[in-house]
Amino acid sequence: MLRAPRGTKDILPPESHKWAYLESLLRRLSKLYNFEEIRTPIFEYTELFSRTVGESTDIVRKEMYTFQDKGGRDLTLRPEGTAPVARAFLERGLAQGALPKKLFYLGPMFRYEKPQAGRYREFVQYGVEILGSPSAYSDVEVILLAVRIAEELGLTGTVLYINTIGCPKCRQAHREDFVKHISSRAKQLCKDCLERLETNPMRILDCKNPACREAVADVPLVKDYLCDDCQEHWDTLQQLLESLGLEYTVDPTLVRGLDYYTKTVFELKWPPLGAQDAIIGGGRYDGLIEELGGKPCPGVGFAVGVERLLLAAEKGQKPLNPDVSIDCFVVFPGGGDRRLAQAGFKLVNDLRGSGLSSDFDPLGRSMKAQMKHADRLNARYVAILGEAEFEQGLVTIRSMEHGWQKQVSAGQVLDFMKEEVSGGSK
Ligand code: AMP
Repeated sequence: MLRAPRGTKDILPPESHKWAYLESLLRRLSKLYNFEEIRTPIFEYTELFSRTVGESTDIVRKEMYTFQDKGGRDLTLRPEGTAPVARAFLERGLAQGALPKKLFYLGPMFRYEKPQAGRYREFVQYGVEILGSPSAYSDVEVILLAVRIAEELGLTGTVLYINTIGCPKCRQAHREDFVKHISSRAKQLCKDCLERLETNPMRILDCKNPACREAVADVPLVKDYLCDDCQEHWDTLQQLLESLGLEYTVDPTLVRGLDYYTKTVFELKWPPLGAQDAIIGGGRYDGLIEELGGKPCPGVGFAVGVERLLLAAEKGQKPLNPDVSIDCFVVFPGGGDRRLAQAGFKLVNDLRGSGLSSDFDPLGRSMKAQMKHADRLNARYVAILGEAEFEQGLVTIRSMEHGWQKQVSAGQVLDFMKEEVSGGSK
């Protein structure tokens, strides 16, 4: 038997209802905060990611689905959403339009990672980006949206962690002291961190290895090396959060995996998730657009894994409970009088035409089996068109929720059902 590739999954009903529900919630909140949707290609030129995400990151070094197409082009299935959005922003001239541009995306990403609980090779991310605003108000705006998503999903007790990683200017000053300090403890570092010491030393702060964590315990921090501009941004951000009464914790070891971040980085964690408790992560990336060949243009945003949000929502106070019912199931004998079956089928069609979700049994099973099927489909009402009803020009309506049964004339059944479904009598 053929199987789906490792690290991918099929999303089947009823799970798919939860996906649709969560996606519509994300779309609704995007609208509320005035983010517009952008859809970028699933694959891009490999260079887009190697240049922006960074040659030294795990994503680029180990995790990209890269291939050559028949024309010999180097392509990569997108591993994240920000670089494609920035590319489109530049290429499509959005930089010349009204700024800031507030965009959101929702779609599959691909990373060649070891599959495990909550880690897939194809997964879905939702993310927002504000391009063209250097203001700390924009940082707070995306943080507020992140917090709102968690609230709407009933995740109480989330913790907001923030940090600043400065700009290249501050980082240069910091890097020298940082590397000197870490080099004196190089023996303690894991193999990956030894490499990071050469390529991207700050990412050593991100390592979960206990010996590496010990090595960075009292290391010099970027926040003590900030230039005036970064310091002011950092102060404004905190003052704004305080003015809103939004609690936060400064975590000076919070750095994000990607190279293009500047100034603010943040994570929203929800402790009940255990080891993988970061539900939303984001930050500012003022150098990205320039890196792609555009005029300098600041940006800030976040990304969230939809699988992880679903997992969290299931454990939260408001488990997702989308409506999986249909309005009406029409029961009619499949064999025998063809006019009767045709009238039954027409009724299904008319109900649908009136906007009521409806279904029937195309397999011509017994009335009893059809009733069972209606129950399995969570039909709110069943319309029965048996021989007796057909001869008298009637339809029997049964409310599956309340247990009553009524006979309605065939000519009035649509009005009756519309009234029932919108109002619902007891
Ligand atoms: P990142 O783009 O690495 O900052 O990840 C942002 C979010 O995407 C994470 O918090 C996860 O929820 C999700 N994510 C990242 N990688 C994977 C993966 N391999 N499988 C499922 N979700 C992922």
